[in-house]
Amino acid sequence: MKAELGGGWHGLLADAARYCYVGFAVRWTGIRCCLTAAPDRCLKDTVGKGTDLAAAWEAENTFLATKILVNADAQTCDAVRNALREVVERQGEGRKQADCVQRILGVGRDQAIRIAGNIVGAVLAEAGYRRAIEAGMTHKLWLRSPSPGKTKPGHQEAEARYRPEPCPIKRPFLVNGAALRFPRDFLSGNWDECIDCNCIMIAKRLVKN
Ligand SMILES: [Zn+2]
Repeated sequence: MKAELGGGWHGLLADAARYCYVGFAVRWTGIRCCLTAAPDRCLKDTVGKGTDLAAAWEAENTFLATKILVNADAQTCDAVRNALREVVERQGEGRKQADCVQRILGVGRDQAIRIAGNIVGAVLAEAGYRRAIEAGMTHKLWLRSPSPGKTKPGHQEAEARYRPEPCPIKRPFLVNGAALRFPRDFLSGNWDECIDCNCIMIAKRLVKN
């Protein structure tokens, strides 16, 4: 098996993968910084490249992220999701996302930023996973969050374990005992492993020699 580079990569995953497998250090760091410090830019890139986010917005994980973080009722969770979706579809960046969460839930600024980040992050992760499968990717890697002091220990371990032997795309990652399709897979029910996770999945296509 060898990695098929070039046309097989796509979107954000393409950038991350190129750094990881070809020009490792510099761009990998770049992607991590991008996801951590400027998720809006990544979001715009993803949306701009035509990723279909509609199915990801409908997935239950966006609902769960709100429910877990603020224990809101179903109606409120829906309201948060719909408002956030509208902001994102208008290319609204993080400040506007937090504004709309704050308006609906009446929470503090930090909590609003955290909620918006978890929900939008979950949507992007869900969309990226679906797109990777549609694009014929066969395997995936786990890239841990670079945030100092915030990396979940099991996530660091997962990155190291899957790097030499990528996980088949439709088989879940095993992370700290939890089966996750991708980072922030709230639908898995392993919420502790998903909340505030900034890790990303990198998909690749492996072909036989
Ligand atoms: Zn993580």
